Amino acid sequence: MGILEVKGVNKRFGGLQALGDVNLSVAENTVHAIIGPNGAGKSTLLNCLVGKLIPDTGSVMFDGQSVLGRTPYEINQMGISRVFQTPEIFGDLTVFENMVIPAFAKRDGSFRMHAFESVASEKDIVAHAEEMLTEVNMQDKIHMHAASLSRGDKRRLEMAMCLLQEPRLLLLDEPTAGMARADTNNTIDLLKEIKEKRDITIAIIEHDMHVVFSLADRITVLAQGTPLVEDSPEKIRGNPKVREAYLGE
Ligand code: ADP
Ligand code: MG
Repeated sequence: MGILEVKGVNKRFGGLQALGDVNLSVAENTVHAIIGPNGAGKSTLLNCLVGKLIPDTGSVMFDGQSVLGRTPYEINQMGISRVFQTPEIFGDLTVFENMVIPAFAKRDGSFRMHAFESVASEKDIVAHAEEMLTEVNMQDKIHMHAASLSRGDKRRLEMAMCLLQEPRLLLLDEPTAGMARADTNNTIDLLKEIKEKRDITIAIIEHDMHVVFSLADRITVLAQGTPLVEDSPEKIRGNPKVREAYLGE
């Protein structure tokens, strides 16, 4: 059994069947990529995993527990973190200030100012934030305004903010979209480092096949809301239907 088990998920938007009988099993400590053309239902599927959308039918189990009927916040507390397509950081705050907010949120369940009353644990939180920034190689940018970071560094910061929550499942929706090649390669390296250093499962939606083949242990191809094929990267690469439809060959 995978850490994430999606069974028979359907989701309609009015007359449009965005997801049709989706089954997906993501094994623990692997990188599982979900690919497919625009409008295939990839983001809709991800939204069903984090409680942003509720499937019409089907089940979504994380580590043996149903996520359905829980709020996004509760699902996050279960150990699922999501990185958005556009980095969700506070541009007016420094890198360090961006880190401290989720750190206190993790401790208190919400960001409350009285968290600062406890000096000892404030020190712990600061140390933890610094440690995470070092892990993503941003220790020298700690006092920069987040808005002035490169796209790749914004992604690094957002990843560090996610890691503070110590997720067991990290969900990424097109993390390299709109990035220059150097920042894309940077993101690949970062995700590889994160994988090496901790027990974490990653489900990644990605258009860039270089990213997919650099990271994925398994690949699911989604087409018109339904999984077309799920296989190893080698098999996917060799699949004529996939080559024709998604690899532009
Ligand atoms: P992908 O991420 O694979 O590009 P999406 O999951 O965003 O695809 O969209 C799947 C289909 O569902 C598309 O046809 C899209 O227009 C439609 N869709 C997505 N979100 C909504 C929504 N909130 N309301 C209506 N239709 C939607
Ligand atoms: Mg999408």
